[in-house]
Amino acid sequence: MKTFILFATIFFSLQAASITNFRLEHFCIKSQKNQFFIYRSFLLNNTQSYLALNTTTLETKILKSPLANPSPCNYDSRYFQLLHLEINKPYPLQNDGFIQSKNGIIITTDLCPSSKKGFEKRLYKALFQNFPNPVPVTLFITKRWIIKHKKAFHTLLLWEKERKLSITWGNHTAYHHYFPKRPLKENFVLAKNENLVNDVTNLEITLLEHGITPSIFFRFPGLVSNKKSALTIASLGYIIVGSNTWLAKGEKLKQNSIILVHGNKNEAKGVDILLKLIKEKRITQISDIKSAF
Ligand SMILES: [Zn+2]
Repeated sequence: MKTFILFATIFFSLQAASITNFRLEHFCIKSQKNQFFIYRSFLLNNTQSYLALNTTTLETKILKSPLANPSPCNYDSRYFQLLHLEINKPYPLQNDGFIQSKNGIIITTDLCPSSKKGFEKRLYKALFQNFPNPVPVTLFITKRWIIKHKKAFHTLLLWEKERKLSITWGNHTAYHHYFPKRPLKENFVLAKNENLVNDVTNLEITLLEHGITPSIFFRFPGLVSNKKSALTIASLGYIIVGSNTWLAKGEKLKQNSIILVHGNKNEAKGVDILLKLIKEKRITQISDIKSAF
């Protein structure tokens, strides 16, 4: 009964929020000894609001007006150092960004657009049935997946509300364009006509409309990018996350794994492998992505 009421509450509160006057920002404030990087502003149901990142913990939250006065950003803080590292790395065509964890195993599940019905329930259930709740998991989500999989999306929100999962809502672009016959360097976000800023912020707005606070983590569709797109993503404030353990591609589990599986049923093989690793107790602990870099 409790579950039903919670589900109904989530269902009827869907897209209750209106987001208007959405803008990119770039300034810092100090609040209760914490430094926050303010990187978006918008009207949330007509109230002036901001997307704010704690530059030490990498947690994001929504702050309401009035804000504390801007103060100079501390570029020695953890977040700005990570951004600095990110833009001073080489720019590979595949798997750019941070690909290994400094603090235990991280699980990331991509929710790219898919024509498959439902989602990998067995994957998320295995997490919260085998590890202390709430289990940290990162969802690199797309708007096109959300639109086609409302019920699955509600179930994930329900598990988050029930504190079975601690979800980090990662950005995987709204549209995740893909052209089966094109080479990688003209595919995904490198395709002609891609408007990357719009593709990224469009997903942020969708999440905010659903009452979700977007995180600071981004994964390129197909893990494909170039210098220009990586710099665009960095300028939007994001920490780019690749993977050293794409299970369906045969990459093996390591102590510093950032595991990549698909939660959208597009790559059952990776989920099969992950479930086997969990069953064999090869994964004993799962860490939060915010502690990984
Ligand atoms: Zn994808």
